[in-house]
Amino acid sequence: DERPFTGEELELLNLLGHHVATVFENARLFESATFEGLTGILRREAILEQLERELQRALRYRRPLALALADLDHFKAVNDRHGHLAGDLLLKRAAQALASPLRSTDAVGRFGGEEFLVVLPETDLAGAAVVAEKLRQTVEELAVTLEDGTVLQITVSIGLAAIDPQAEWSPSALELLGEADKALYRAKGAGRNRIEPVLP
Ligand code: GH3
Ligand code: MG
Ligand code: MG
Repeated sequence: DERPFTGEELELLNLLGHHVATVFENARLFESATFEGLTGILRREAILEQLERELQRALRYRRPLALALADLDHFKAVNDRHGHLAGDLLLKRAAQALASPLRSTDAVGRFGGEEFLVVLPETDLAGAAVVAEKLRQTVEELAVTLEDGTVLQITVSIGLAAIDPQAEWSPSALELLGEADKALYRAKGAGRNRIEPVLP
């Protein structure tokens, strides 16, 4: 008998094959549950989970924590002028631009359509303002060239909120998000392409 494998060996190989396939399938499922399809950054649920976890840790150990809520400026005009596909491409590149200057311990996720949430552990409001200014500049410098040569550019407005480890106030994630959202609203009102910290 010249067959390379016995029946028992073939059965084992078959079993291993299925096992490896399951491992890859699980990895794929984890990936798509964690990262958002268009932008490749964290999905809304994943970034909110990260915020909850970091906030609990920061409050327990009295460490600083900041968050930034970023919203692309006049993004609807990009869709209207250049079409939804061009809008998608710019959105993707803007998300990657926002992610690129961050530290590995920071996290960024797609919070909504063209809104992004950045969680900055071990960072106070002043530190967050430095990071946010860098993000604002990175997006401002982004230029996406379409196939027909059209160059797309965009700006971003950013609202900031932070916990003060010295203060008694222990906000929930929702309260912090509300603060950042108010600051973002002020940044829009003040002319866009700017960052606004939360008011004391
Ligand atoms: P503002 O400066 O006030 O934020 O103006 P805006 O036009 O960015 O704000 P608005 O909320 O009016 O519009 C957001 C637009 O983002 C509208 C929506 O069609 C677009 N948008 C949201 N998600 C996507 C997406 O996944 N792809 C594309 N192409 N557009 C999207
Ligand atoms: Mg917008
Ligand atoms: Mg928006």
